[in-house]
Amino acid sequence: AKLHNRSGYAYFTRDMGVEIRERVRMMHALRAAFEGERLFVVYQPQIDMQSGKTVGAEALLRWRTEEGNFIPPDQFIPIAEYSGLIVNIGEWVLRSACFELMQLRESGFADFQIAVNVSQAQFSHPLFMQSLERAIRDSRIPPNCLELEITESMAMTDPEMLVNTLQQIKRMGVRISIDDFGTGFSSLSQLQKLNVDKLKIDRAFVSEISSLDSEASIAKMIVQLSQSLNLAVIAEGVETQEQANALMAFGCQYAQGFLYAKPQTRSELRKWLKS
Ligand code: C2E
Ligand code: CA
Ligand code: CA
Ligand code: CA
Repeated sequence: AKLHNRSGYAYFTRDMGVEIRERVRMMHALRAAFEGERLFVVYQPQIDMQSGKTVGAEALLRWRTEEGNFIPPDQFIPIAEYSGLIVNIGEWVLRSACFELMQLRESGFADFQIAVNVSQAQFSHPLFMQSLERAIRDSRIPPNCLELEITESMAMTDPEMLVNTLQQIKRMGVRISIDDFGTGFSSLSQLQKLNVDKLKIDRAFVSEISSLDSEASIAKMIVQLSQSLNLAVIAEGVETQEQANALMAFGCQYAQGFLYAKPQTRSELRKWLKS
């Protein structure tokens, strides 16, 4: 929306003014939090449902204010994206995840994988590939232990850029998954061109499993799609054993959700892996 008329006077409503001021305030607070090291990364275990083993984890960002409150990522990630702060913050998350992987490998968890969320603004940044290479080199992890989660909507903004970047990433050996799969609108032909490794079934399709008859479930269709495209598949937001059973019956191998484990701090994750 246009914010100024020709004479330079803002004609936005008072509500818009309040909203913009709030966003700017939050942006400054986020930058201060990042610089003050009040952001940290938690790790949510990913489980092989058949064996019950933890095969990896998703890195998730947390913001703890000076007063000790937590601001959820759904509130501050959009601000980080909008302000461009996501480029530096995202690089830091990526490096943190790589160093965590290195330390876990040194403690004997050799096959562990970590998945990191990557925003459009990071991905399309000209220095992204360099920072990815540097993170892998500095931490000395095998690239195939690292997975990047992208979203379907990224395929729509700039498909050519995405295909090129994904090819470079794949050549490095890093894996790619499509997050929140089924909520965007990418076509099957786009999906094939993207050449990803894994689909991640969105929580919304997992939570509706019990209320639908299983033949009609989108989760089942996504599992079948992944099988016919030869892709791995993981369900997110698995909260009940009933959901896990249905997913296993569909042929889904991996799951992530409160049924198994909540996102964990580094030390909680170590305890979890040793138990
Ligand atoms: P997402 O990538 O879809 O992450 C999964 C979210 O589902 C996480 O929320 C996780 O805590 C939550 N979750 C996991 N299991 C369950 C469950 O069984 N039930 C329910 N109700 N929720 C579950 P979280 O950590 O609040 O993150 C929200 C979103 O913020 C993420 O959604 C992701 O889009 C974004 N995000 C988080 N960290 C980062 C990051 O480092 N970079 C970027 N670009 N985005 C991030
Ligand atoms: Ca994710
Ligand atoms: Ca997701
Ligand atoms: Ca989701």
